[in-house]
Amino acid sequence: MKTRDGGRCLNCGQERGIQAHHVMRRTLVPFAALELGNGISLCRQCHRLVHAEFNGRLDPALPMGAAQGDDQDEWSTLFGMLMDDATKRGLEHDELYFLSDELLRFSVA
Ligand SMILES: [Zn+2]
Ligand SMILES: [Zn+2]
Repeated sequence: MKTRDGGRCLNCGQERGIQAHHVMRRTLVPFAALELGNGISLCRQCHRLVHAEFNGRLDPALPMGAAQGDDQDEWSTLFGMLMDDATKRGLEHDELYFLSDELLRFSVA
């Protein structure tokens, strides 16, 4: 996955401190951890940002649906970053960004 993403942060382009982030949390979608298309390379700062934002929005007092909507916004942002990068570098979407039908069904549900 690091190779696919050019060994740099897909958000800011930095090449140091790259970490793998799962777009959909493993706790939420256990099978998603195995999917290449669910991983995105982020530097330490951007990675922390994603998690800070994400965790900050999680309010147990909110109904499930409200939190869910936020999740989907974040997912489409991150998936959009992946697709843009793939297009820019002329990579084949289907293999490197594979998402199972099962996962896609989940994300649009
Ligand atoms: Zn970054
Ligand atoms: Zn992460």
